Amino acid sequence: MRNQTGRIEVITGPMYAGKTEELLRRVRRAEYAEENILVFKPVIDNRYAEGEVVSHNKSHTRSINISKAKDIWNFITDDTDIVAIDEIQFLDEEAVDICEDLADQGIRVIVSGLDRNFRGDPFSFMPRLLTLADQVDKLTAVCVKCHAPATRTQRLVNGKPANYDDPIILIGATEAYEARCRHCHQV
Ligand code: ADP
Ligand code: MG
Ligand code: ZN
Repeated sequence: MRNQTGRIEVITGPMYAGKTEELLRRVRRAEYAEENILVFKPVIDNRYAEGEVVSHNKSHTRSINISKAKDIWNFITDDTDIVAIDEIQFLDEEAVDICEDLADQGIRVIVSGLDRNFRGDPFSFMPRLLTLADQVDKLTAVCVKCHAPATRTQRLVNGKPANYDDPIILIGATEAYEARCRHCHQV
């Protein structure tokens, strides 16, 4: 029976779009249906909590921290119905193939991740994942400048828009991210 239910659902969009909230909403529904769910997150994302997936409005659930996509296999059993992964863009590209394999085996795969980096360009392997997905929900946040639907994540370094060439890690700088629309996004 499990074979028929395998699919890949991707929840994407910029920061603050409600990706994690939506992932948690789907996980909660599945819990009511008494399904066996494994929730993963990359260990790099230690925002708010270890061993927990947490949204910006403090909704949360227990999760397994993984450093490599292939670590997922250590937790899969014959009883696993659902695999959920938050912030999938921080994993290695093997994550895409694993999502495919899991779905082919009949597991419902629910993942969330950024579709763009702070420059506004596609985020690593996300284009491939979005193409292979059975369902894609692209959510928007609210632009902090003009209140239009926001599709981009603005990176601010010491309060100013980051430059296109700025390294991902800037020692000694204060960094912030905010949701912005196409027109208010600056690089
Ligand atoms: P994501 O996982 O996409 O970063 P979350 O699910 O963690 O988003 O958080 C979404 C929540 O963030 C919203 O429900 C709202 O409470 C809060 N929020 C803060 N800033 C914004 C914004 N600019 N636009 C929309 N929601 C925002
Ligand atoms: Mg999130
Ligand atoms: Zn705007």
